[in-house]
Order: sequence, then structure tokens, then C-alpha cells
Amino acid sequence: MHELSIAMQIIEIVDEESKNHAATGVSAIKLDIGTLSGIEPDALEFAMEEAVKGSIAELAKVYYNYIQAVAVCEECCHEFETHDYFKTCPFCNSLNTSLVKGKELKIAAIDLITN
Ligand SMILES: [Zn+2]
Repeated sequence: MHELSIAMQIIEIVDEESKNHAATGVSAIKLDIGTLSGIEPDALEFAMEEAVKGSIAELAKVYYNYIQAVAVCEECCHEFETHDYFKTCPFCNSLNTSLVKGKELKIAAIDLITN
């Protein structure tokens, strides 16, 4: 499963970060996930629950910040929400559009517990 390997990578990074700061635990993990990142929210949330088991982040609260994909039209400069990579501008029907945000897949913050 795609999401499980991503969740494992996230926990690896969190684990590394914890070691670097001699943390004794992790209180929260905040993730930024674009709606066009290819991530299935339910699958990722389930995968994270599995991935944290036995890790330093076992008791961490995981926050998912889903970012609605937005594209911009190169012709009329309007921005609009999109659910596809390639989208016709709803204002001028141009196909000359590009994605502004929505492909994010990153750890926004890790809250470590240190003594
Ligand atoms: Zn346009």
C-alpha cells in the first residue's frame, strides 16, 4: 500500500528528528497534504495509526492539514480550485493553466517532548 510506505517514511523522519534532539517522546506531528498529492486521506490516517505503533511517536497526536488544490490561469490571471492537474479556466476557458498549490506532501511540524 502506497500510503503505508509514506507513513513509514514520516515516522522514520520523526524518529531521526527525535534522536537529533534527544527527545523522550513526540506530542504532535503535523502534516500538510495537498488534494492532488495522490494521497487517499482515509488510507493515510489508517497507515499512520499502524506506523506509529512501537515508535517514539506512539502517543503523538497527528494533525492532517488538507490543502485544496488551486490553479491559476496564465491568460486572465484568475485563481480557481481544481480537482485535476489539467484544467480549463472557468473564467475564460483557456487551457493555459498551472497548479499553484495542492501537490504538498510534507511534515509541517514535529512537536518533541524533551526533558
Ligand atoms: Zn482564464
